[in-house]
Order: sequence, then structure tokens, then C-alpha cells
Amino acid sequence: MNLKGRFDTIFFDADDTLWENEAFFRAAEAQFTELLADYTEPEGVQELLWRKQEDNIPLFGYGSKTYMIGMTDAAVELCGGHLPDRIYHGVKRIITDLAYHEFELMDGVEEVLQALHGRYRLIVATKGDLPEQMNKYRLSGLDKYFHHCEVMENKDEKNYIELARKHDLRPEQLLMIGNSVKSDIAPVVNIGGTAIHIPHEIVWVHEMMDMPESDRIIEVQNIREIVPILL
Ligand SMILES: [Mg+2]
Repeated sequence: MNLKGRFDTIFFDADDTLWENEAFFRAAEAQFTELLADYTEPEGVQELLWRKQEDNIPLFGYGSKTYMIGMTDAAVELCGGHLPDRIYHGVKRIITDLAYHEFELMDGVEEVLQALHGRYRLIVATKGDLPEQMNKYRLSGLDKYFHHCEVMENKDEKNYIELARKHDLRPEQLLMIGNSVKSDIAPVVNIGGTAIHIPHEIVWVHEMMDMPESDRIIEVQNIREIVPILL
């Protein structure tokens, strides 16, 4: 499918589309399992952690601070109701390392943005903790290509309708590019927009969903493949 001339604005997901993210969360989970090694077997730790995370996301949103609460909740349970000082400070260190991890752009991102810049209005549409996402955006050095960075509360149909309205677009004028079927692809096509899916090798359990059927979804393997589709 060729989209030349069909859109004037392109929205990009950020985590695991523009820069690496999920791998750092997985590394943090491995450190957490290691930290709790004296209290429990590694099997089941990750699942408990994900369950606690799911409980906290609706209350506190996305990002590493919410993950800190989830890890602390899981640690209290695994330690039998009493959280030793060493474990609490261990959790805090894991989360601090996660929040300030080394920054890593995905392969091909900069050259693609260079090619599209000036031809389209480019907007980052990420979800998560506002200061955390803005910090990553500034660290990325990609702000020179983007018109704006939108940190969304969530990425459901309602949020995308609001996003379109905010940028004077009808939902059918939305073109979203991202790695998550649940957050970047399904809600956008459900409201009449178009989406390009660039899968990432690691998918967070929270984001797992089957690809919906739609002729407004394009699948590519690498971000470089979007250039001939758009120019
Ligand atoms: Mg993503």
C-alpha cells in the first residue's frame, strides 16, 4: 500500500518504536528476582510482579514510579508481610537505574525522521509518566524533527479521538506508527484511522493483543521501510 499524499501529519509511538524501552524493564525484573532469591524460587516472581503492576496502572498510570509500587507490593507479599530495609532499598535502586538507564535509539530512526521532516508534520504520541517521557524525548535529541510531543494518559479510542481533535484532524486523518497492536494499531483503525505496525521483539504482557483485520493496517519489519510508503 502506498500512502503518498494521503496524510499531512504522522504520529509516532516512542517506547520501542523510536527508542529501546521494554528490554530495560525486563532487565529490572531479572534484578528484582535476584534480589528476592533468599525468599522465593524465581518461578512465579515475574507473574506476581505483572499482576501487581496491572493493579496499580489504573490508579497511578504508566512509568517506572508505578512499577516501584508494584515491585514493593510484590516484595511485601514474597517477604511474608514484612519488608526488610535491604529489599526496599534494593527495589528503589532497581527503579532508579531503570528511570535513568542508558539511552538507546532504535536502528534507522534518525535517517527516517530526517527523510520525513519538512514533508510531514511529525508528532510523538507516547503514553506514560509525563516527566519521564519528556526526559527521554529530550535525551533522544529527536526534538528537532518533531512539531510536538504528546504524552497521553492512555492509548484507547477515546484518547485518539481527543488527540485528533487537538491537532485539528478528523479521526480518518490519523496515521499512527508504532510497535504495540493494542496501543498503536487497534484503537486507531477502530476509529477510522490508518496504522503502520513495526513489531518489536519484546512485547510487554500488558500490551499483548491479536492483530485486528483491517485494510488500513500496514506491517513492516523495520522503520526504514516506511519511507517508500510515505514519500
Ligand atoms: Mg511502544
